[in-house]
Amino acid sequence: MKDNSPTMFEVLDERFVCGGDDQLEQLWTGGRWLEGPVYVPVGKYLLFNDIPNNRTMRWDETSGTVSTFEHSSDYSNGQSLDAQGRLLVCEQGARRVVRTEHDGSRTVLAATFEGKRFNSPNDVVEHSDGSIWFTDPPYGITSDYEGVRAPAELEGCHVYRIEPGTQACRQVTADMDRPNGLAFSLDETTLYVADTMHGHIRTFDVDSGQLTDGKVFATVAFGKVDGVRLDATGNVWVAAGPAIHCFHSDGTLIGRVHVPEISSNLTFGGPKRNRLFICATTSLYSALLNVNGAPRRTQIPNQKRAGR
Ligand code: MG
Repeated sequence: MKDNSPTMFEVLDERFVCGGDDQLEQLWTGGRWLEGPVYVPVGKYLLFNDIPNNRTMRWDETSGTVSTFEHSSDYSNGQSLDAQGRLLVCEQGARRVVRTEHDGSRTVLAATFEGKRFNSPNDVVEHSDGSIWFTDPPYGITSDYEGVRAPAELEGCHVYRIEPGTQACRQVTADMDRPNGLAFSLDETTLYVADTMHGHIRTFDVDSGQLTDGKVFATVAFGKVDGVRLDATGNVWVAAGPAIHCFHSDGTLIGRVHVPEISSNLTFGGPKRNRLFICATTSLYSALLNVNGAPRRTQIPNQKRAGR
């Protein structure tokens, strides 16, 4: 199924050169609310979560088929790979961040902060120093639809950092309302974080494990901002409403990819990382682009980053 609408790629600036073959393909439909796409290159498949149905799905790049990867996935939401290719997962229902090891077992990375349960971890990324950063809005505890209704235990909604090695967890923001999608800049000196309540993306300096100098990077004109990913040129791609919005690193909106449903998250994948995958309400979409996703990170030992 393909949508060849001529308005699918909206070019607002000549720097938006992602056209590809101008086809948005619906790879699968039949979910309720999809999130968390992550491409697993070693297996040539994409995992994504159908949150209200409490299941993780797997799209196979070789056969084009979609199957259930895991039932009862604890209402998992955002996912990414660490530098070793292990899956990092935000379990909204269990209110924790976990890692799936190469043998399939799961390691809990963070479940509480100062003795209190998180709200419902939403999205997670790793820095090349091995630290793991995640957001903690309340969407998994406000109803039984996307998790398990429960009172919040922590004051507010924040970004947290899990230390490499010790796995100590630190709160690194104090002035966000609904932190959601997040992604590092190519040089990892900046963290982009979407705040869904305010419809904008903020930037923070990443300095010795703290986030400082928070600024509004860009405001999205419509929709609820959710997932954030970068391409290899440093452009910032944001899922919000029925579109993926592409911002130059200077904050200019340079183009959009229009989607027939409300988008939640995106990722780049395929062997060349030039395939855009979009989770949007009930369906998984993809488009081949003329740009590549940001390269996968190689882990850099802590000592080489000392003094940054
Ligand atoms: Mg999210």
